[in-house]
Amino acid sequence: MKNWDAIVVGAGIIGLSLAIELQKQGLGVLVVEKGEPGREASWAAGGMLCDFAAETPPELRELATASARMYPEFVRELEDESGLKIDLRSEGTLVFLESHLDSLQEQRLQSSYSLPAPLGELESAFRIPDATAPHFTPLYIKERSVDPRHLTVAAIAGARHRGIDFWSGDHVVAVEMASGKASGVRTNKTQFAAGLVVNCAGAWAGQMGPHPFPTRPVKGQMLCVAMPEKELVRHVVRTPNVYLIPRSDGRMLIGATAEEAGFDKQTVPETIEKLRQAAIDLVPRLADARILEAWAGLRPGTPDGLPILGATPTAGYFVATGHFRDGILLAPVTAKVMAEMMTGQAPQIDVSKFSAGRFNS
Ligand SMILES: Cc1cc2nc3c(=O)[nH]c(=O)nc-3n(C[C@H](O)[C@H](O)[C@H](O)COP(=O)(O)OP(=O)(O)OC[C@H]3O[C@@H](n4cnc5c(N)ncnc54)[C@H](O)[C@@H]3O)c2cc1C
Repeated sequence: MKNWDAIVVGAGIIGLSLAIELQKQGLGVLVVEKGEPGREASWAAGGMLCDFAAETPPELRELATASARMYPEFVRELEDESGLKIDLRSEGTLVFLESHLDSLQEQRLQSSYSLPAPLGELESAFRIPDATAPHFTPLYIKERSVDPRHLTVAAIAGARHRGIDFWSGDHVVAVEMASGKASGVRTNKTQFAAGLVVNCAGAWAGQMGPHPFPTRPVKGQMLCVAMPEKELVRHVVRTPNVYLIPRSDGRMLIGATAEEAGFDKQTVPETIEKLRQAAIDLVPRLADARILEAWAGLRPGTPDGLPILGATPTAGYFVATGHFRDGILLAPVTAKVMAEMMTGQAPQIDVSKFSAGRFNS
């Protein structure tokens, strides 16, 4: 039987990026995926690379900023290795903050994130909100967005190109142990041997022994429309009710709900219509936009909303999950620090506060 140095469980963007990083360190890698690679949360995501202090939990800021910086290079490498184009956009984001801020906070934010031009010039299709209405603190954030489907397809192709093996359509049911250390995985159909195993199973990470990680699915419904004009909206837009993510080919994503609904991935027509209406309230011409698709995906949530990264009590068994709303953003930095830890190096960024052990108390 073929032996690998490392087995990555889960072919979402976290598992795929980590598999590539481990291969770069010279390891032979097998990725095991229960379904089709790259078709769960990483397929459903919007792709905002959100790096704005007021919206990111303080504990995540260092990782988020480091990962946002890594993105252009991360995408360039995946494009080179896969021969595929990834839509990475740098137009920036317009954020309409909830006005729970006091006026001093609001002034501070407005001076740090001031609009580079009047709102009507930045987005002429907007219905300019009444400045006295709640939620009206428009800010401009220099952040990027990426098409997560392009990204995962390129990561799969890039990983294959590097000689990483895939086994898909089969669940990992257990981590195998020998002399108290991880020695591989058992699936519904077979077993595979490796001295290193990493659980990147997203919302399902807690279902696989031997350590019950407290992950849960947080359902997000969203839709995609064809803008009546290709550049009708150019910036990502976030309001407390809805976000808009334009793509370079003229599509626009409108999202998203955050629901505690177990592993249900059904879309609800009324909910999709509500999102569409919220988008039309901002950009009336979206009333003419054709709906291309609606879907729901499962964010990997944790009790404190932060990822679970690092070693586990079982030697050779690691975990990288719980990226909740930010897994697309955090993929490059997660791959880097996890590969460092799994190959016995000190991680460039201290991620001890994200250890699985924090839930033990
Ligand atoms: C609607 C929505 C919008 C989002 N928007 C953004 C955004 O704008 N920006 C952002 O950064 N993030 C966003 N996210 C979050 C992001 O999608 C996730 O954080 C990220 O995709 C998590 O990646 P992952 O690889 O951990 O999980 P997944 O992509 O879910 O991958 C986990 C994989 O593990 C596999 N698996 C599970 N159990 C097993 C098993 N036992 N054996 C084998 N395989 C298994 C699954 O089939 C799956 O393919 C959004 C999510 C949703 C749902």
